[in-house]
Amino acid sequence: MTKRIAIVGAGTAGLQLGLYLQDKGVESTIFTDKRIEDYPHVRLLNTVAHHQVTVQREDALGVNHWPTDGYFGHYYYIGMPGNPIEFYGDLTTGPSRAVDYRIYLPTLMKDYQDRGGHIQYGDISVADLPQLSDAYDLVVIGTGKGGLGTLFARDEQSSPFTSPQRQLCVGLFKGIAQQDTKAVSFCISPGAGEMIEIPTVTFSGDASALVFENHPGSDLEQLTHTRYEDNPRAFLDLVLDKLRTHYPITARRVNEEEFDVANSPLDILQGAVTPTVRHGHVKLANGKTALLIGDAHATVDPVLGQGGNMASYAAHVVGQEIVATDFFDERFFAEVDARRANRVLGATRWTNFMLGALNTLPDAFTQFLGAVSQNRGLADRFTDNFNYPEKQWDLFSNPDAVRLWIDENSSVPGEDGHPFVLAGAQS
Ligand SMILES: Cc1cc2nc3c(=O)[nH]c(=O)nc-3n(C[C@H](O)[C@H](O)[C@H](O)COP(=O)(O)OP(=O)(O)OC[C@H]3O[C@@H](n4cnc5c(N)ncnc54)[C@H](O)[C@@H]3O)c2cc1C
Repeated sequence: MTKRIAIVGAGTAGLQLGLYLQDKGVESTIFTDKRIEDYPHVRLLNTVAHHQVTVQREDALGVNHWPTDGYFGHYYYIGMPGNPIEFYGDLTTGPSRAVDYRIYLPTLMKDYQDRGGHIQYGDISVADLPQLSDAYDLVVIGTGKGGLGTLFARDEQSSPFTSPQRQLCVGLFKGIAQQDTKAVSFCISPGAGEMIEIPTVTFSGDASALVFENHPGSDLEQLTHTRYEDNPRAFLDLVLDKLRTHYPITARRVNEEEFDVANSPLDILQGAVTPTVRHGHVKLANGKTALLIGDAHATVDPVLGQGGNMASYAAHVVGQEIVATDFFDERFFAEVDARRANRVLGATRWTNFMLGALNTLPDAFTQFLGAVSQNRGLADRFTDNFNYPEKQWDLFSNPDAVRLWIDENSSVPGEDGHPFVLAGAQS
């Protein structure tokens, strides 16, 4: 059967689905509101790290354009008053990688076009969907966390929050030296926030993404409401002050003379995300069914870096199911929802759980961090499981499972150094 698929949105979800279908000989059209040439001029969209499981999917799609730009693990810093905890864990499945999406998305759009894919530009509204669904065999909605997707019903059971749990201030910065091993630094300031420092490929080469996840009402929230454009020096001084006070493992590597946005004031993004799951498929006004994918289906707070990885996973599941089916019927939609649930809902539940645990640091969680900090094998396992969020949820969903996991994994030896060497790259 010849199938024609309409994909709305050229984010990771829509593009990886389009590229997958292209590879399998299934015809698709991507409808999106931003042109390739628009991306260098828009504000920072996010700061996305793709874990190795996602990089491997990119390899398979032939769109791994940054094979030497990965990082190898996570440094952790928990600023317990008087007794800070620091440790390191390797990403043993393989390196993760962060590329500014203003580079990543247009590059994949170009790949899709160069391979014969058709991109149609325009802002798609709900009113357009019935017409699209008449013209195509299936409509897939991958329009991200805002706009169109928000018009569909929430899955209340999987959406415990109705407001953002963090106030975000995110930016790409120069003037921060790498750690000994090229890695993410994941920092917790108890009662105030988290900060994730990510080595990132930007328009001007390597720079550091700083993701400030500020607890509402804490002194860090000021970062979300202070504009770089109003007074660049005052903004940078505020960031430096908060780093020194809350996140010393990053502050001590900053060259204050050089510290600034990596390229332009557009490198700063401020706002907040309401974690929300929506039903995976929706009935349109003409009675046909459309599929939701990526953030349009499940939006998580970025604190654990899962959303883009979930979108890539779901794109591949949806692609496989489209290739395998002859009918876009109830069975098809149920199969897609069942196959993506473990990873997508696992990541959602783990992230939602951690938003609470990082906030209040309950005893069971600090005991877990204490055990992991003492044992490199545990630290490696915990770090690598950022690739497999459903395993993290298996672990944290039940406090008894934590003790069992520590016992079972304590005998697993850790690596002294990172075992992965990227072609042509130094760690
Ligand atoms: C600060 C921050 C940091 C993050 N860090 C990470 C991380 O480290 N790791 C990770 O995995 N995830 C991370 N995420 C999440 C990640 O950005 C998203 O999960 C991912 O981009 C979702 O991909 P998507 O394709 O669903 O949506 P998007 O990437 O948002 O793409 C949506 C697409 O739809 C288009 N569009 C929107 N509306 C319309 C319309 N009406 N008509 C036509 N086109 C439309 C847009 O232009 C875009 O092309 C982070 C998010 C933020 C905000």
